[in-house]
Amino acid sequence: MTDLTDLGIAAIRDGVAAGTFSAREVADSFIASVEQGRALNAWLVETPEHAIAAAEAADRARTQGELLPLSGVPLGIKDLFATKGVETTAASAILKGFKPEYESTITSKLFGAGAGMLGKLNMDQFAMGSSNETSAFGNVISPWRRNDGGNAALAPGGSSGGSSTAVAARMAPGVTGTDTGGSIRQPAAFTGISGIKPTYGRCSRWGVVAFASSLDQAGPMARDVRDCAIMLEAMSGFDPKDATSLDLDVPQWEKGLSGDLKGKRIGIPKEYRVDNMPPEIEALWQQGIQFVKDAGAEIVEVSLPHTKYALPTYYIIAPAEASSNLARYDGVRYGLRDLPEGANLQEMYAATRADGFGAEVKRRIMIGTYVLSAGFYDAYYTKAQKVRALIARDFDQAWEKCDLLLTPTAPSAAFALGEKSADPIAMYLNDVFTVPSSLAGLPAMSVPAGLDAQGLPLGLQIIGKALDEQGVLNASLAIEERAGFTARPGKWW
Ligand code: GLN
Repeated sequence: MTDLTDLGIAAIRDGVAAGTFSAREVADSFIASVEQGRALNAWLVETPEHAIAAAEAADRARTQGELLPLSGVPLGIKDLFATKGVETTAASAILKGFKPEYESTITSKLFGAGAGMLGKLNMDQFAMGSSNETSAFGNVISPWRRNDGGNAALAPGGSSGGSSTAVAARMAPGVTGTDTGGSIRQPAAFTGISGIKPTYGRCSRWGVVAFASSLDQAGPMARDVRDCAIMLEAMSGFDPKDATSLDLDVPQWEKGLSGDLKGKRIGIPKEYRVDNMPPEIEALWQQGIQFVKDAGAEIVEVSLPHTKYALPTYYIIAPAEASSNLARYDGVRYGLRDLPEGANLQEMYAATRADGFGAEVKRRIMIGTYVLSAGFYDAYYTKAQKVRALIARDFDQAWEKCDLLLTPTAPSAAFALGEKSADPIAMYLNDVFTVPSSLAGLPAMSVPAGLDAQGLPLGLQIIGKALDEQGVLNASLAIEERAGFTARPGKWW
């Protein structure tokens, strides 16, 4: 029999339904893979008992003819999602020991659809980062290695780096991610997997540890486009507990999948041709253009003139919102409390936050507090909000000429751990292609499309109009079908 960890979500679902294997066998295979992969540090908590209970329920449901959409599918959950009774830290020391009394809407939907949980996934602390190096519990190591004979440990991308690694290393067939400025798409691109950030408001934020509330969106990461569509259907839907949740029916994205792009106009934004972009990424982009043309699409040049302001705008708005959201971690309500001898309340707050937050989180809180301060609010925060509106308008104007946009996902392949961690600006620049669609709240997906000269995966990004996840999935599928990306990391761990 094939190794069950080679199967994706659709294959597991169908195989369990057909009785080719049991859900319990699937769960056991992935649990063993999680144990074998511990050197990658992708998991903060392992919950084999949860995956086994869901698998046994799936096997019973099968005999009773009551299978659910995700019966038998074990998943990994990013540690940003509150899971009832299971430690949830957002990879920060300040939340160490925090076991939520409640289940996030997304995880309860996934479990309600029959999925089990293999564990909680490591990530950049509070989802701030692009390499997973800001975790308080050690970085994740990508399962990929360059083919240069060296053994440089590579970044799995961030902030959903545990998530990307779990899928790429065959420790889970699918995982949840969250994306505030690229944290689903960039790690997916770095590890040769697929991931979609839906339209802002599709997936409930309730029970997801808040980073920048006007940008945060959950989404799936999995081996291919179909698997992402299946998971996204289970995760989406109106939630009265989230004031920004969209009160709309969830389309049947899996049923609607088609790689035929006849009649679709795909825009190529000229501003995404950035300085110092490796020629391989430019070549991949050209290849992607050919793929979508072969699928029947018409290519149009478009302009998104405010693209160059997207990063500075994001790195004002996201820290501003973070500084406000993270005010709640004060040693009173959650996790860590540092109470030095004789300290008063103020000193307890200060000691707890000084100890509990990592350096990147402190940097964001300081930037955020600065841009929101009375003297600088208009110069930075108000200005950034205005530019955000212009960036969104760029997209609206592009939609007059095209239906979807095609761009690279990131300006580089995975970099080595430590390579950018001393230079926050270099790290922030890695988000150049993912941040604009986040600021505009648009759906966007990364699909693996090729390898660079060092044998590392590269991703292409499809951005769509608000609510056009179907268009995004379909164009991504057209690329997937033509790219024939089958590379996977050799198992060295
Ligand atoms: N890398 C970006 C940041 O550090 C995006 C993070 C995210 O999407 N959560 O803010």
